[in-house]
Amino acid sequence: MHYTINNLNLIKKEINNISSNVNIVAVSKTFNFETIEPLVKNGHLHFGENKVQEAVAKWSEIKKSNKNLQLHMLGKLQTNKVKYAVPLFDYIHSLDNIKLAEKISSEQIKVQKKLKIFIQVNIGNEKQKNGILKNEVKSFFDKCVEKLNLDIVGLMCIPPKENSNKDYFGEMMEIKKKIGLENLSMGMSSDYLDAIKAGSNFVRIGSKIFGDRN
Ligand SMILES: *Cc1c(COP(=O)(O)O)cnc(C)c1O
Repeated sequence: MHYTINNLNLIKKEINNISSNVNIVAVSKTFNFETIEPLVKNGHLHFGENKVQEAVAKWSEIKKSNKNLQLHMLGKLQTNKVKYAVPLFDYIHSLDNIKLAEKISSEQIKVQKKLKIFIQVNIGNEKQKNGILKNEVKSFFDKCVEKLNLDIVGLMCIPPKENSNKDYFGEMMEIKKKIGLENLSMGMSSDYLDAIKAGSNFVRIGSKIFGDRN
């Protein structure tokens, strides 16, 4: 059995003890398709990338012949890349400003497609991090839905590394409930179990499946 399948099976087993309702996004950034292919062939459906150009090169052809594959854009999305991102991806987890929202909206109309979108929240209030500030998420959400007709399905965060993430995950759940959203995208290789215990239903796992990235 390919090591990625083995790794994913172990992760699934752990997760199933806590929740039966979790989507595992296998984060395949930096890995070539040869490394990813065993998982695709084994029927795994959710894959995540953080760079548009890399994703287009890696996934465009494969997606044509695997209609069920769900591709997730996780990284910072520049407005000038939106025209390449919208046709390829099924989800965007990193919506973090109104210019980007407007660009996605107009591009979606052009190609007659509606992506599922998470608003990225700067939950640790960090200067250097992307994301909408906590107290601005609701008004940002309203604009995205009412003015731009986006399909906002949930909230995403990358919490500060140095602190206990449990509190941040809890805060994310509070905001999600207040707005009345369905999904939370939080939890990576180091903290997915805590994230799921706090209610996350989309975990983004890279190195624990594919190994270390250089
Ligand atoms: C790379 C990346 C991940 C996966 O990180 P691992 O620690 O390897 O699991 C998750 N989310 C985002 C936004 C990423 O860029």
